[in-house]
Amino acid sequence: MHILVINCGSSSVKAAILHPETRARVARLKAERLGTDRASVRIQHMDGARTEALGPVDAPEALRVLLPAFLEAATVKVVAVGHRVVHGGERFTTPIAITDEVVEALKGLTPLAPLHNPANLAGIRSARDLLPDVPHVAIFDTAFHSTLPRRARTYALPTALAEKHGARRYGFHGPSHAWSSRQAALHLGRDLRDLRVITCHLGNGASACAVEYGRSIETSMGMTPLEGLVMGTRSGSVDPGLLLRVMREEGWGPARMDQVLNRESGLLGLSGVGRDLRDIEERSANGNESCRLALQVFTHRLRKYIGAYAAVMGGVDAIVFTGGIGENSALVRHRTLQRLDFLGARLSESENRSAQVDLHHVVAPIHAQDSTVALLVVACDEEAELARGVRMVLREQAAVQAPRTIPIAVSARHIHLTQEAVDILFGAGHTLTPYKPLSQPGQFACEEKLTVVGPRRSIEGVRVLGPTRPACQIEVSRTDEFFLGIDAPVRDSGDVKHSAGCTLIGPVGRLALTEGVICARRHIHMRPEDAERFGVEDRDVVEVAVNSAGRDLVFGDVLVRVSLKYALEMHLDTDEANAAEIVRGHEGSLVETGATALLRCRKTVFDTA
Ligand code: ADP
Repeated sequence: MHILVINCGSSSVKAAILHPETRARVARLKAERLGTDRASVRIQHMDGARTEALGPVDAPEALRVLLPAFLEAATVKVVAVGHRVVHGGERFTTPIAITDEVVEALKGLTPLAPLHNPANLAGIRSARDLLPDVPHVAIFDTAFHSTLPRRARTYALPTALAEKHGARRYGFHGPSHAWSSRQAALHLGRDLRDLRVITCHLGNGASACAVEYGRSIETSMGMTPLEGLVMGTRSGSVDPGLLLRVMREEGWGPARMDQVLNRESGLLGLSGVGRDLRDIEERSANGNESCRLALQVFTHRLRKYIGAYAAVMGGVDAIVFTGGIGENSALVRHRTLQRLDFLGARLSESENRSAQVDLHHVVAPIHAQDSTVALLVVACDEEAELARGVRMVLREQAAVQAPRTIPIAVSARHIHLTQEAVDILFGAGHTLTPYKPLSQPGQFACEEKLTVVGPRRSIEGVRVLGPTRPACQIEVSRTDEFFLGIDAPVRDSGDVKHSAGCTLIGPVGRLALTEGVICARRHIHMRPEDAERFGVEDRDVVEVAVNSAGRDLVFGDVLVRVSLKYALEMHLDTDEANAAEIVRGHEGSLVETGATALLRCRKTVFDTA
């Protein structure tokens, strides 16, 4: 299964054919300086590479001319095409299958990215004409930042003006920030949803992003890719008052100002020698004062953003450098990370100097041993991220076609015990007696029952489930809590720390517990093949709709738990089941999956306002 990914810009086209899981590239194409008399293309296949001059063609025409031979020489079957699209506006917050309706909607977004989106669309048109029988998917630069909270995406302009112009922070470089933060988590052996990461994408364009528990919550590019860090030829943030003054005093219109800010500023404007950091580093080492200043401004600005993002997240677990500069410039990393000891971030100078990453060795750690913040260099692989987006859409499409119903089991109140608790309540050496097996493999209801005593009242005859566990856990419904007089937290099974206490009374003894009583968070058990079929991953949070006679209900905040040990089943407690009038054998259907579901992942934890 190979995927073609295309990045069609206004004067360049990049394409690659790769396997979405192994990330192995079969072929690559890079056409540059299109529309000028120096246009050229470099094509790499397994059997070698060649560079050719191109005639006077624009980017979509170049794609049309080059793609057939490129595909043929690749000798693999392309099953889908992924297109990088810069602006997804408010609507496109995940990768999406391209239809005529989507193309029309993308045209409508042109005012938001007047240079980029038309070029991206032209590429889509050429590729759909050439490959009409495979799915085409759009992956958006802005999508990763759709989780920006309102306070981070709002500009302090008059509300009516902002609304009229759709003025808000969108953020860009989404595929790179998504990829590099995930690679950082993989390298650290941690779940991204437990980490606060600052990703610094430093190429010709540059942006930083605060990735809090897997979601972008701040990023330096704004409504347009001009805001934020110093870039190759873009100024990044500038006092808006200064711009007004220059326009007034120079008599410049918007086109001239645009040209200066986007094409004549940044490293080029500061150094006066060009936008390429390698030249600037070399001249700076030889005493060129402008180049020194360019480096200082570049790294000072970046350090400022890192400090700000650590403050926004209340700390940072990892700082990631990626993009041509981030991956290759030890000097930029060294200067940027100076004086960040107060955050616990300490650079290893030797690791920093020797760090090398590529598509096979994706991550290089550069922190000192005593650093409490991981400092990482990550090889940027936007192509892999585009292919991942395509695969996600293909999986979702397959899931729509597959049966999507899930058996529902209703958990009545029950008790899990440790062996020590069994000894106290039923007598030393007692073993639990299976009464009947439960649907989850290895689990059984026991003959044994206990009385649960709360501050207000008691409930008798609460069944024990086996086998024994490392901690006692009493799962009750909200109604049970009111009855018992207990205020128990909603928790995932197994997470009983600092939960509510109660007393258990058995035939032989009684046991006072300081914690263990929870109201179980509704969840679905599934095996990996079920997860694949539904297009979800372990710990995703989804919505599940239940059709029942007259009391249809959609349950939000349903946790997905994936393990080879499980059987497919959704677990509700008696309150939840009663609310939907669920009876034995009822089935729910997954109505929200994949990336959209992920979006809701932290909705119980975060205030997104
Ligand atoms: P783009 O944003 O166009 O994809 P890249 O991510 O390729 O750009 O980054 C280009 C930048 O990376 C240039 O400024 C280039 O000078 C810089 N760069 C590449 N290699 C090195 C290196 N060895 N040392 C310092 N800078 C480098």
